[in-house]
Amino acid sequence: MSIFLVDEYKDMEPYVPGEQPKDKPYIKLNANETSVPPSPKVFEAISKSEIWNMSYYADPHCHEFRQAVAEVYGITEDEVFVGNGADEVLSFVLMSFFRRGMKIYFPDITYGFYRTYAKTYGLDMEEIPVKDDFSVDINDYMELDGDIILANPNNPTGLMVPVEDIERLVKKNPDRMVIIDEAYVDYCGESCLPLAIKYPNLVVVRTFSKSRNMAGAHVGFAVASKEIIEDMNKIKFSFNPFNLNSVTMAAGIAAVKDTDYLKKCVIRVINTRERFTKELENIGFEVIPSKANFVFCKHEDIKSQVLCDRLKEEGILTRHFADERLTDYLRITIGTDEEMMVVLITIKEILADIHKTLVTAQEVAI
Ligand code: PMP
Repeated sequence: MSIFLVDEYKDMEPYVPGEQPKDKPYIKLNANETSVPPSPKVFEAISKSEIWNMSYYADPHCHEFRQAVAEVYGITEDEVFVGNGADEVLSFVLMSFFRRGMKIYFPDITYGFYRTYAKTYGLDMEEIPVKDDFSVDINDYMELDGDIILANPNNPTGLMVPVEDIERLVKKNPDRMVIIDEAYVDYCGESCLPLAIKYPNLVVVRTFSKSRNMAGAHVGFAVASKEIIEDMNKIKFSFNPFNLNSVTMAAGIAAVKDTDYLKKCVIRVINTRERFTKELENIGFEVIPSKANFVFCKHEDIKSQVLCDRLKEEGILTRHFADERLTDYLRITIGTDEEMMVVLITIKEILADIHKTLVTAQEVAI
């Protein structure tokens, strides 16, 4: 730490993204990405003329991109904010509407970045425990004295709160901002997005990193009232007007318009998720019923940290969280059918190994 770091940031806890080892090729299932490419329209959009365009600043108002998003979702451009991934969009929401010391509530088991943001912006965070089955009970949020952020579906559980429950929360608390992070919503089909233009205290955040297979481009957007979007743009223009570059915007415009490709990708992931879940259950796993592009599971014969390490040795990356309530579980992103087949075969081999060791140990004991 240098002597220049300001006191407020000294005990900041930076977010730890999923690892990206380069020592050998891996099946990468630790960050809820996909190994499937973006829409073919994106390949066409990043043409030589886009490279020529790099000599000019990109449009800081992101008009064309916001218009494309608005058209696809049946809203208006001034109800859309676009940014460098959902992470940056969320960051602009917090920067715009939260003062140091302000209260923010979120579940104790959720996307780890919320804790990081709360520390970064000096917020008074309170984590509401999820139920024993990991579900979020909306009634726990009805009578609070601060703003709320919920990932829906939640990460790392894949569970979701019904949209009607969220509407109840938003309606009952018109003076509190409710931020719904819908990073995984395309895999569940039930979205709060239409509510964001109906209720002035609701902000819905989306990403292109999951269902649109564009984590590397890092594109996200928010939908909210015109007033909220105007405020966020004011902050953006006071911080980093060119938060999206021209190449990324060209890719984003092409991707958002290709709704057929999105549907195709989403259906494939859902089918693979359902099949993989059943197969895990058949070999003794407990799997939380997921509405996202990952499963959260455990097996009583092997510690999840050990399974994560063994899978990594075999070239498969998954995500284990050390937090007390999560440590028994392993999060596995849903890849292609072929990738999940390899994962399943490898897990079966690891389990067979464990069972063999157990039998040998029992024989020695006799
Ligand atoms: N929200 C949730 C719930 C997530 O799980 C993630 C990614 N892991 C993000 C937001 C970040 O999305 P982006 O890549 O667009 O920053």
